[in-house]
Amino acid sequence: MKVAVLRETKSNESRVGLVPDGVKFLKKKEIEVVVEKDAGLKAGFPDAAYEAEGATIAPDAATAVSGADVVLKVQPVTAEEIGVLASGQVLVSSFQPASNLEIVRSLRDAGVTMMAMELMPRITRAQSMDILSSQATVAGYKAVLLGANAIGKFLPMLTTAAGTVRPAKTLTLGAGVAGLQVLATFRRLGALMEAFDVRPAVKEQCESLGAKFLELDVGDMEDAGGYAKELSEDQHERELELIANALRNKDVVITTAQIPGRKAPVLITREMVDGMMPGSAIVDLAAETGGNCELTRAGETVEHNGVKILGPVNLAATMPFHASMMFSKNLVTFLMEMVNKEDKSLTLDWENEVISGVCVTYQNEVRHGPTKEALG
Ligand code: NAD
Repeated sequence: MKVAVLRETKSNESRVGLVPDGVKFLKKKEIEVVVEKDAGLKAGFPDAAYEAEGATIAPDAATAVSGADVVLKVQPVTAEEIGVLASGQVLVSSFQPASNLEIVRSLRDAGVTMMAMELMPRITRAQSMDILSSQATVAGYKAVLLGANAIGKFLPMLTTAAGTVRPAKTLTLGAGVAGLQVLATFRRLGALMEAFDVRPAVKEQCESLGAKFLELDVGDMEDAGGYAKELSEDQHERELELIANALRNKDVVITTAQIPGRKAPVLITREMVDGMMPGSAIVDLAAETGGNCELTRAGETVEHNGVKILGPVNLAATMPFHASMMFSKNLVTFLMEMVNKEDKSLTLDWENEVISGVCVTYQNEVRHGPTKEALG
């Protein structure tokens, strides 16, 4: 079996789909690895590091994928990149089929098997293959650093000869994977923490990280998949009131609230920003899906009455070394689900919910139900 690793072509992407450690693991399983030249360079993994683990370096994408059974990437393929892929090859990368329908059509017509890692089922067994979780961990950590950097204050309490500094006050909205990493990072930096989520199940986790959990009686807002449900209008009104009060004395606010498949809920209106302290900052991790703050602009920092509102995009790519290590581990674990234990061949077992869950196209067919429907 042969695996190819492509160099990312998107301008703000510095991660790589497989790191040298992954090569080492695959070589032990008798899997050959070809890496496109400089694929890992921006993430801190030079070609020599891949060669040292037994990979071959190919001068370009076409040479890298030639004869490969599986192709690994971080970002979804572009229309041009599909040109180098051959029918029957399995492509594994991040991919949101709903927002890439044209690409789905091209992959289907080219006979490429697309495994979209964003569709990974949220079951315990699949946690080690979950790119959303691994990359959200990176984003949560980085969001705290951006927030700390955006205010003119210390986060921890300091007792110095030049006076005592009070610890910064922070609020984290949404305590899923990213939000919990935000709290863990704030804690390491000594900030005071409050947190809020519509899923009461996370209260204990927030408290165990040292945060005060803000309570709102909205019933059980968790769906069968562990995700949040959308609030009713009345519940949303009450939520905004709670958040508006909590915002007034905060130095850093980090928002991470998402509803799968929908625009992110607006949790901070312009009026609520008006009530915040000048010099404070909001880091909106939901910027790419519309933002949790009404004033957020994706990829930009907006200033409103002295409050900075940061809308970072693709934050995981700003920490490419560790983000790639985690992404690579997710892909390698998934790859092993497709390798027949006896003869080491590529085998797609449709009874395996991990494989059937992420597969979008196979043998010129769209297999993923919602995508098939969207294509009509
Ligand atoms: P997410 O990115 O979809 O949402 C982030 C957070 O925003 C969630 O905690 C959600 O409850 C919260 N939220 C949504 N609407 C809100 C609102 N109006 N106000 C405040 N908060 C709001 O979620 P995620 O972090 O990817 O995952 C959510 C949960 O799924 C995790 O906490 C975990 O329990 C579960 N999970 C399971 C697996 C697995 O078993 N493989 C993997 C990852 C996550």
